[in-house]
Amino acid sequence: MRGEEETSSELKTAIDDLASLFRQSSRALAFTGAGLSTECGIPDFRSPGGLWSQNKPIPFQAFVANREARAEAWRRKFTMDDSFAGAVPGRGHRALADLIARGRLIGVITQNIDNLHQVSGVDGDRLVELHGNGTYATCLACAERHELSWVRHRVTSGDVAPDCRSCGGVVKSATISFGQAMPEAELQRAVRLSLATDLFIVIGSSLVVHPAASLPVTAKRNGARLIIINRQETPLDDIADLLIPGDIGTVLSGLVQRLN
Ligand code: NAD
Repeated sequence: MRGEEETSSELKTAIDDLASLFRQSSRALAFTGAGLSTECGIPDFRSPGGLWSQNKPIPFQAFVANREARAEAWRRKFTMDDSFAGAVPGRGHRALADLIARGRLIGVITQNIDNLHQVSGVDGDRLVELHGNGTYATCLACAERHELSWVRHRVTSGDVAPDCRSCGGVVKSATISFGQAMPEAELQRAVRLSLATDLFIVIGSSLVVHPAASLPVTAKRNGARLIIINRQETPLDDIADLLIPGDIGTVLSGLVQRLN
């Protein structure tokens, strides 16, 4: 049940229930969204006042077709990066890294692009980044990696939308924009994990961005239990086995304590 504000005793009971489902599981899997990083000071998209209400994202086609859109995308990117440069993993990230280290989670599928799972100690072979990574850039034509420091230097030198230094192609932050195809290999890894898990835990996602949001349904149809830890309602609440509308950092750190 989702109430206005869950009381702390209700939240404690929900964390107890989560711990109990964890003890019954041998292949739990986390699926994280922007809500995991709000306690690190990085706003999500769809909370009230989130990024969505301030700046509509620039779609992929506009970025590729239009140099002015690219210039605007780099301006926004560097403004955001400067605001969040000091962000470090929160209690939620640390709890997930701890659960992986203890063999309690088979992996993390993330929609986040902020690199905080890696900083918290999750290895690449346990992590699927469905929407890419915002800490570097790549050429859309030849895939050469370009460091953001190089892009920023070009931009501040007056080249507001720099092209690839090797092939002249369009350089873009290594993230997946609206309208851009999902990386096929990452999507396949995510589907494989979703079919392997017996406990699929959604953490801080509004579950409206597809195809990522279809993964919980894939897992559930394959017999996994589905848990959703999210303050706001999601379109999959009706099929969840456990809904926890509480604060992610509180819930996940409470879970780790109970499993100790
Ligand atoms: P979203 O913004 O659509 O949804 C986040 C959800 O988290 C919201 O429903 C909100 O109620 C909930 N939430 C926020 N803080 C919470 C907390 N402390 N406890 C419990 N719930 C909390 O996010 P999404 O579903 O991940 O989709 C957004 C897209 O934007 C993703 O594709 C992602 O790539 C991108 N994005 C990434 C970041 C990041 O990397 N940190 C930030 C913003 C957007």
